[in-house]
Amino acid sequence: MKFSGNNLETERCPHCGISAPNLVLVGNPFIGATAGGGVPKEYWRVFQCARCRAGVMVRSNPANSGLQAWPAATTYSEDIPAKARNALREARLALGTPSLSIVGSARAIDHMLKARDYKEGSLYVRINKAAEDHVITEDMKAWAHEVRLEANDERHADEDAPDATEEEAARILRFAEALAELLFELPARVKRGRQLAPGAKA
Ligand SMILES: [Zn+2]
Repeated sequence: MKFSGNNLETERCPHCGISAPNLVLVGNPFIGATAGGGVPKEYWRVFQCARCRAGVMVRSNPANSGLQAWPAATTYSEDIPAKARNALREARLALGTPSLSIVGSARAIDHMLKARDYKEGSLYVRINKAAEDHVITEDMKAWAHEVRLEANDERHADEDAPDATEEEAARILRFAEALAELLFELPARVKRGRQLAPGAKA
């Protein structure tokens, strides 16, 4: 990631996932913090993606030429099983092609349930079983079914179903990410926290 004239050069837009995005400076850079004598210590800039119109905020430090961006390009936690993690990544990168992204999110959900030993039957059956076992809440179940149905629309190229929008794809991806957090990231974080706690017992 680096500045190039009025552009920010980065691999992908963190919002829409397009590669080599056209991220254009909006307004002027402003000074965020000063060192002694009012010398700028850091600058802030806002860039806008020409494709999805969303913004990226960048903090730069002239002293060390380091850049930090928000939102950062998404990388998924290593706590998520590899197959599900890859499917999430693909779903995110495909957000510009909603139907493809939705199929990716559904595949991620499928892999996550399998990793938690919900292997028998259709996705529908396994989602119900996970809710019965209180692995997911009833609300999560309702949301999951919505995701499943929309993914089916894409797979079966249903003539009557309206084309999926980028917004729908993003909503479904958010569900898949929430599920990953609930099933894998939070439990792993709690486990690590307990191991670090003084007087923790194995
Ligand atoms: Zn974008």
